Amino acid sequence: MDCLFCAIIAGDVPSRQIYADDHAVAFLDIAPWHRGHSLVIPRRHVVDVLEEGPALIDIAPAIQTTSRLLMDRLGADGLNMVMNNRAVAGQEVFHLHVHLVPRYSEHPGMRALFRPDPAAGSDLDALHAHLTGAV
Ligand code: 5GP
Ligand code: ZN
Repeated sequence: MDCLFCAIIAGDVPSRQIYADDHAVAFLDIAPWHRGHSLVIPRRHVVDVLEEGPALIDIAPAIQTTSRLLMDRLGADGLNMVMNNRAVAGQEVFHLHVHLVPRYSEHPGMRALFRPDPAAGSDLDALHAHLTGAV
């Protein structure tokens, strides 16, 4: 199966992992909308939340733990959880994922959520080190 996120889980494609447990992995999004934008994915291949089976509940602890990590370490003021299911909804990678998007008071509100920000992606290695405690 040709799946980018399965390749990330397998370690065949590099990612900046910030959290992992038995069911899920969280890593920094390569093209963040806001500083700290991360993805939480199940270890097993599930296409989307509409598929049969309890995929979302498996990754719920990882979603909560990663959300708290991002909030605490980045001093964010809030956080969006976004999930795109199927192409018409904007899904581009067909392995279930939840976007965790830390939000900051200078760019408030839903309309400013999807705001691809090159500046937020310019220091991903430093951000990764900060979130994983390496610095
Ligand atoms: P979707 O549109 O499917 O909900 O979101 C897919 C997300 O995956 C996008 O935000 C995109 O930036 C991210 N993404 C795509 N390819 C890669 C990659 O190779 N590494 C990482 N870390 N994120 C990726
Ligand atoms: Zn997959």
